[in-house]
Amino acid sequence: MSTNQALFERARRVIPGGVNSPVRAFRSVGGTPPFIARAQGPYFWDAEGVRYIDYIGSWGPMIVGHVHPEVLEAVQRVLVNGFSFGAPTEAEIEIAEEIAKLMPTMQQVRFVSSGTEATMSALRLARGFTNRSRIVKFEGCYHGHADSLLVKAGSGLLTFGNPTSAGVPADIAKHTTVLEYNNAAALEEAFGAFGDEIAAVIVEPVAGNMNLVRGNPEFLKTLRALCTKHGAVLIFDEVMCGFRVALGGAQALYGIEPDLTCLGKVIGGGMPAAAFGGRRDIMAHLAPEGGVYQAGTLSGNPIAVAAGLKTLELIQAPGFYERLSAQTARLTNGLAACARDARVPFSADAIGGMFGLYFNETVPASFADVSRSDIPRFNTFFHKMLDAGVYFAPSAYEAGFVSSAHDDAVIDATLAAARDAFAALAA
Ligand SMILES: *Cc1c(COP(=O)(O)O)cnc(C)c1O
Repeated sequence: MSTNQALFERARRVIPGGVNSPVRAFRSVGGTPPFIARAQGPYFWDAEGVRYIDYIGSWGPMIVGHVHPEVLEAVQRVLVNGFSFGAPTEAEIEIAEEIAKLMPTMQQVRFVSSGTEATMSALRLARGFTNRSRIVKFEGCYHGHADSLLVKAGSGLLTFGNPTSAGVPADIAKHTTVLEYNNAAALEEAFGAFGDEIAAVIVEPVAGNMNLVRGNPEFLKTLRALCTKHGAVLIFDEVMCGFRVALGGAQALYGIEPDLTCLGKVIGGGMPAAAFGGRRDIMAHLAPEGGVYQAGTLSGNPIAVAAGLKTLELIQAPGFYERLSAQTARLTNGLAACARDARVPFSADAIGGMFGLYFNETVPASFADVSRSDIPRFNTFFHKMLDAGVYFAPSAYEAGFVSSAHDDAVIDATLAAARDAFAALAA
């Protein structure tokens, strides 16, 4: 038995499924997940000493690569001053000011420790602000695992949402309406039917949790206009796409101003940090100023804030996003070329340092489109690449991530492996 297999067996005895987050268990691609021992730049190494080119980057946070020397130094500097105080610090002001500067819609920012907490808190705030209960989300968008968000569409627009997880009461799910992503007509219909009951609409403006699916600009514009018209709070969940698709996030890319924004992943630089924020008049409803309760023992943790602040500084280097986008496009264009040569139906998309690979001729616009891709073929491709030392997301429903440490040599090594993998798929 290999070391990874032994670790997986041992893990499964004490941790459900052997993992602390389901996708890590490789259920959809099959096989044994490598147990990671360390990382550096664009690489990580497993418990057997095997090196992988890492295209998940902890699912987004590692935008400057693993153990960037300046981030390491920033963390080491604050470590000796204490790990957590449960009292305010100046660094929290600095990171809030930095976020407000980079994303001007974030007039005020509240820090939390995970994206789940950010979206859950933003929804409670929107409900407290509007005195309404109903929320709208879109099929295929993931906003963490709070009860109200683990919901799928009912059988029709006016039927109640159904829980997607055991343990979510139907009484909670019924307040959530689930619509098709990028479907402006369904949006108009829903607002026509119950617009004045909607507390908030939450959306990933660039979706990254059903593989990568771009929000259609017209769809997002319609959404903004309808929320304004009906007094519903528009929440952009930029936990993944914020500081990933562009310096100002998807909202800068599309030129659309949400009322509230949720951030996570990149803003913690790999440490547990996330945030929500936005319009000052809405944020004024949060405790201790207002009546919406929200709190956290480790919120604004000094070590996480130090890693986040340094990461936010590094991504502001001139040309950072131009280079990151160019490297990501080099990867996706290269993969598409390999697929073409092997005559394997395939397409790819990239925005900033985020990418999608689809075993289908066309780039998807919805969850249903993603579901129509050739998933068994993806799984074969995934394992061939893993065997060649390239770690892509272990699911056809996840996006991929490139960091500034993925240089030409790293991308070219990936493409050399991909050429063989596609050739084997064609055979
Ligand atoms: C990752 C993610 C979350 C959840 O964040 P966690 O830190 O895993 O709780 C929420 N929304 C989006 C868009 C995400 O990608």
